[in-house]
Amino acid sequence: MDLGDFPLESIGLPAAVFRSEAGQHVHVNAAFRALMEDRLGPDKAPLFEDLDALLGGQLQDVNPESGDSIIQEIKIGRKRHSFEFTVGLISRGETNAVLLLGVDKSDVVKAEAKLSSYVGIIEENNRELQRLANTDPLTEAANRRALFNRFEELVKQVSDFHCTVSILDIDHFKRYNDEYGHDFGDFVLKTFAQQVRVQLADKTIFARIGGEEFCVVDYSGGAEMAREKLQGALDAVRDLQLDTPKTESVNITFSAGVAEYGRDGHTLDDLLKNADRALYYAKANGRSCVIPYSAELFEKRDTTLIARVDNLKSRE
Ligand code: GH3
Ligand code: MG
Ligand code: MG
Repeated sequence: MDLGDFPLESIGLPAAVFRSEAGQHVHVNAAFRALMEDRLGPDKAPLFEDLDALLGGQLQDVNPESGDSIIQEIKIGRKRHSFEFTVGLISRGETNAVLLLGVDKSDVVKAEAKLSSYVGIIEENNRELQRLANTDPLTEAANRRALFNRFEELVKQVSDFHCTVSILDIDHFKRYNDEYGHDFGDFVLKTFAQQVRVQLADKTIFARIGGEEFCVVDYSGGAEMAREKLQGALDAVRDLQLDTPKTESVNITFSAGVAEYGRDGHTLDDLLKNADRALYYAKANGRSCVIPYSAELFEKRDTTLIARVDNLKSRE
């Protein structure tokens, strides 16, 4: 039986039947011939090479016994169409040949492209929502929720985890509001956050945990180094000259209490509690300083400091 006897016209899709050898004639139905029209012109009988060229040379590598398929873009008129050609082995009596069956998948490809761009937009929106849910909008520092989540993650992920947890509280912040207005107060908060973030940089979590209170979790090195970095941040903000809405300029200072993971607590709640105790000492000590928590200091109950702290509390 001749290859030309295969009933290709009864197939409603572009179909071709051939033997995979150079110079062999290829039998195609009218729908397939329409795809080759550009290459062949109306009269020429197609050869295997013509078919292979139409499919961008992919026909040579395909294995008809494995049910492979070929994806190829073909121009029809002025439009490019995406075709998927399924390749299969067929036999009739003594005759074995390869059957190629094409499906125009342009609409599906277009729909997939649209879908993936929508998925991209949705993913981008989700990332933005996630960022907003974890960020303080004024200072762009992490919020309390993000602080606790990230701390938990670090404790789980970092082997031999060590860190310091500090609370930084801007000194006499209320005065900025009272003297220059709430907007200037906001400006002070933003400037403070920006400066401290630059000073602390790597391996720190920087979060806003209250009006003018911030937390720094520093897991970059030892406690001594963390305190030095805080001192550096304090020097940097102290050096800033902020223009007020009035004629004068002002600078910022903060007080900080530092607690050490392991020594002063294992949970963030405990560490914050002890950092806060040290912060009271820092305030009582004249402000604008960094004080490490020490259980001993509290147990000894340094009477001069405690008296000043109690005095401070009773004035709030
Ligand atoms: P201390 O040195 O003892 O810390 O004194 P302080 O004035 O910094 O502290 P206090 O707690 O008395 O005042 C904090 C003020 O911060 C009170 C509150 O109105 C103000 N505040 C809280 N959140 C914001 C904010 O988002 N923007 C502005 N502008 N002010 C805020
Ligand atoms: Mg405060
Ligand atoms: Mg304050």
